[in-house]
Amino acid sequence: VTRANKLVIGNWKMNGSMESNHALLDGVLVGLEQAGCKAVVAVCSPFPYLAQVAGLLKGTAVSWGAQDVSAHGQGAYTGEVSAAMLSEFGCRWAIVGHSERRAMHQESAQLVADKAEAAATVGLTPVFCVGETLAEREADRVQSVIAAQLAPLFAKGDDLVARTVVAYEPVWAIGTGKTASPEQAQQVHGFIRAQLPASAKSIPLLYGGSVKPDNAATLFAMDDIDGGLIGGAALVAKDFVAIAAA
Ligand code: PEP
Repeated sequence: VTRANKLVIGNWKMNGSMESNHALLDGVLVGLEQAGCKAVVAVCSPFPYLAQVAGLLKGTAVSWGAQDVSAHGQGAYTGEVSAAMLSEFGCRWAIVGHSERRAMHQESAQLVADKAEAAATVGLTPVFCVGETLAEREADRVQSVIAAQLAPLFAKGDDLVARTVVAYEPVWAIGTGKTASPEQAQQVHGFIRAQLPASAKSIPLLYGGSVKPDNAATLFAMDDIDGGLIGGAALVAKDFVAIAAA
């Protein structure tokens, strides 16, 4: 996947039910069609719903993925889900290193890079999340924090980076209603682009953090913002469609 097309990915987090997923995806499919949406659109559901989501989205323009993946191939890893399993359910994407997992599940930068590699090995595209906390921003450490999050990914080689999507999600903007300004986001996206190896310069860089229908267009208009990773607004069909159409 390259930045030639805008990319909008919904992250449902731990939300949904068989009934609500069905209604949401029906609404998204109809809405995208009516809007004549040109963006590449995907949703990342909780693991147990992947079969349902696959059934509802197969043959449509919307692809799907998971919100996490194990770094391991198989074996005695209770509770983990492998990339090969996701692949069997038709997943195209696997989010790795979401800040909620880095913070609540103590995921290290190295583990996140290992997960990205595991995903890419079976042909999934890792959606590699990075972002600073408010304290880190206030201490002027945005670039060093993001560089440290990216370093173990870069250490795995340019080929992997070229097959990755990076999502910049400032932790202070996630689920808070506080969006980074387009200029703040662009500044970090420009920094990330500059760090990418030459062969991976055209990977998509997504912005995430309280993207809503009313701020999506100005964010997506910035030079190095190639789309969005959408949390809360991805649970409301008309909002998600409006963001994708923007
Ligand atoms: C996210 O968690 O990936 C996210 C961007 O959430 P929200 O849009 O709700 O801030």
